[in-house]
Amino acid sequence: MDLYLNFHAHREAVPGETVIRNLLLPAGKDEEDAITSGFFSAGIHPWHLPPQADEALRQLARVAAHPRCIAIGETGLDKICPTPFALQLALFERQLALAGTTGRPAVIHCVKAWDELLATAKRTRPAIACVIHGFRGKPRLAESLLTHGFYLSFGPRFNPESLRLCPPGRLFLETDEDPHSVDALYHTAASLRGCSPESLNAQCLQNLRDITQTVKK
Ligand SMILES: [Zn+2]
Repeated sequence: MDLYLNFHAHREAVPGETVIRNLLLPAGKDEEDAITSGFFSAGIHPWHLPPQADEALRQLARVAAHPRCIAIGETGLDKICPTPFALQLALFERQLALAGTTGRPAVIHCVKAWDELLATAKRTRPAIACVIHGFRGKPRLAESLLTHGFYLSFGPRFNPESLRLCPPGRLFLETDEDPHSVDALYHTAASLRGCSPESLNAQCLQNLRDITQTVKK
């Protein structure tokens, strides 16, 4: 049986899962080396926008070229963090552009900025898949994002109705900050969707292949 795919986490894999670890930039050499030794995503989070953004973007461009770099992110927009919103928007757009030029999907953190997210997507028309990570929104928001082509990645806290309505081809599961294995989430999600955890995992693995097939090596 395939290991369970954990689409987004801030820790090493636990037994039974394959994890895409997140590298928050800027990062020190030790942390970069540790995380890039396995599959990873890398991005500048709106909570931690550094004063020297250009330097962090250079680090991002460098690690994004790594063959084990699966995605750019998490990057995004957050209305409840103190970082000036204009700065968040600028960094978000630059990271989306980098995702486009490297052919990597984007992992998106979005808190109370859905209109701005949709406006940015409409304006920049990213040619790569955009995955909303840790999606907790209600069904109406889920439907709107799905209509606009987004993928949804659900973590330990989610709206069951939104999880149920997400088409199989647009879904991921993740633990994010949670230390436990992702397998419990596969069991819960599978019973909500009326399928087996194994078939749900096979679908998520296929979705990952779909969104990463544009990666330019
Ligand atoms: Zn995260």
